Amino acid sequence: MNYRNILNKGTSILRKNSILTSSIDAELLLSLSINKSRERILLNLEEEINSYEERKYFELINRRKKKEPISLISRKKFFWKYEFYVNKDVLTPRSETELLVEEVLKIYKNYNNISVLDIGLGSGCILISILKEKKNWKGTGIDISSSALKIAKTNAKIQQVDNRISFIKSDIDKISGRKYDLIVSNPPYISKIEYNNLDLGVKDYEPRKALYGGVDGLSVIEKIINKSKICLKNNGLLAMEIGLGQHYKVYDILRDNGFYIWKTIKDYQNIERCVLAKKIK
Ligand code: GLN
Repeated sequence: MNYRNILNKGTSILRKNSILTSSIDAELLLSLSINKSRERILLNLEEEINSYEERKYFELINRRKKKEPISLISRKKFFWKYEFYVNKDVLTPRSETELLVEEVLKIYKNYNNISVLDIGLGSGCILISILKEKKNWKGTGIDISSSALKIAKTNAKIQQVDNRISFIKSDIDKISGRKYDLIVSNPPYISKIEYNNLDLGVKDYEPRKALYGGVDGLSVIEKIINKSKICLKNNGLLAMEIGLGQHYKVYDILRDNGFYIWKTIKDYQNIERCVLAKKIK
């Protein structure tokens, strides 16, 4: 079979299984199966595929058909400027989270020595992306999941920032000790109702711990704010991603804890996605 025919077959299987991105997914999976770029494939549609590659391709199509995300099949996801290694133990980095990275880098454009704590490191995408841009900054990354920390360490090593990060396996409640200039976090903030209605590709394949934030989705956010009050230096900044419609409640919790709401960033769908708050007392 040539590339054209196998792509048509793959696309049609995915389409029949309600995968909206059937044609690009078929291309990406072919690229993975034969280890050639998508561009190379699309420019050589008459080229033939061998039977070993064909088997491999349909195995991957079969996984995608059951809604497994492409990022988990390929074990990679681009975030900010880099490719991150991911698996089922970490949340696949989301493009919305890049807004947080972008904003932090804008705010601290002229700062050379900043200590940053990432609460809920996951794949490490936030902290690693920031440290790549800021060669003198140092970071601490905490996560409750040791398998997530393992992935974050691998990513930090690949990006050569591992010597500037302290990795700590810990619950938020147990963080203690030093104070930071900046705290970043993309906490689990999905409420119970939202969680039950999540797309199967997310619910069945991504870690619940990384998504579920209690009945109202605010329980981890609340803990982070409480902890940030203690772990931030005066005038330190908390930059945190939040869920749909949570901003007013989050503002209240922040103000109750002595924070000043510095800025809110909206995402590509015009949803308040990230809040930046300064510790003022
Ligand atoms: N910090 C990681 C990310 O933004 C993981 C977040 C999480 O597990 N909730 O992707």
